[in-house]
Amino acid sequence: MIELTGTITAVSSLHIGTGKKSGTFSETLGYLPGRTIRGMVGYYLHSNERELFDKIRISEDTDMSKTGVFFKDALPVYVDKNTLTEKPTVASPVSLKWCKKCDNLMEYGIKECNNIVSGKKCLHEGKKVAGFVTKDSFITGKLEKADVKKHIETKCPITRGGHTSPGSDFELSPYHVESVSPKTKFSFRCIVEDEFADNMKRVLNEAGVFAGLGGYRSRGYGTVAFSEIRESQVSDIIEKRASEISEISNLMMVANSPMILMNQDNSIIGFGTEYGNIFNECATKTLTFSGYEGKLQFNLDNNDQVKQLLNEGIARGWSIKNDNKVSEVKPCIGHGSCAEITSNNHSALAALEVYGVGEMTNSGYGDVYFTGGKI
Ligand SMILES: [Zn+2]
Repeated sequence: MIELTGTITAVSSLHIGTGKKSGTFSETLGYLPGRTIRGMVGYYLHSNERELFDKIRISEDTDMSKTGVFFKDALPVYVDKNTLTEKPTVASPVSLKWCKKCDNLMEYGIKECNNIVSGKKCLHEGKKVAGFVTKDSFITGKLEKADVKKHIETKCPITRGGHTSPGSDFELSPYHVESVSPKTKFSFRCIVEDEFADNMKRVLNEAGVFAGLGGYRSRGYGTVAFSEIRESQVSDIIEKRASEISEISNLMMVANSPMILMNQDNSIIGFGTEYGNIFNECATKTLTFSGYEGKLQFNLDNNDQVKQLLNEGIARGWSIKNDNKVSEVKPCIGHGSCAEITSNNHSALAALEVYGVGEMTNSGYGDVYFTGGKI
């Protein structure tokens, strides 16, 4: 398998529905779910290159060992305001606290900021940070959080008959669309079978312009450009990451996207052993089709509870796939949820980082990364 990475730049405004709607206001997400990118590529291939659509098995929704391509969430790029340096981001772990005053990373178990500001200890308290931060933030202790520029446009429905705005007695009223502003950048990642890598690079460029991403595309939203696309062998990535992970003490797993773990018809919020070890059952499935073996263990506290901190997320695609209404919110494990783990097989952990865990990993769900940290 080959990993393609690159940059997606919004050419027009982008509207990515959140799955929630309140009145006439449509909010946008600040990242591009793998599901939306897969939708764009799938739509383009289905309309223009049916043979490739079938060969690459992009429409496979259930058995992740049968698909030829995995699309991961494209997270916003962090841009340093002074140097204009650009860096990729990850979901901020909910276990970390940052100083309210100086954005310094608070040490584990410490309640007051120890950072020295103008010769004095800062001493302010910490807060959790939601959203997307650089991995450098964990190392340097200085928060680098992606700032996604959004704006709201008010649209007036036009009647089909006269191409005019409706009269005051018309039932449609103006609506408000929030969107990500043009020029915003996101980091793209997909895993594809070797034989399709060249085709996928070409198709991404075409689909970004001719199919588009997200909602209101007939209104001129959704055009994106792909650039700086690089390819690497997945086996090389796993080898390199396994060696990096082996250097980390106090391993912590962080959910980098919403993760769907199903216990029959129920979506489980948590990595625990309450329902048997569903996480490890799902992880084993990923490892089997990727050719790796291994297990991870969740660390327990004195009361035999898994050391974890959870955020609740929304399983948007899962909900629609199972014929639920868009407005019906299905919960799942959310961004930044984390748990302390141990494992003696770092290649297996690296493989989980590449492919993800749980349902619909080909649509970006279940993305994880490993870093150092305590709960
Ligand atoms: Zn501080």
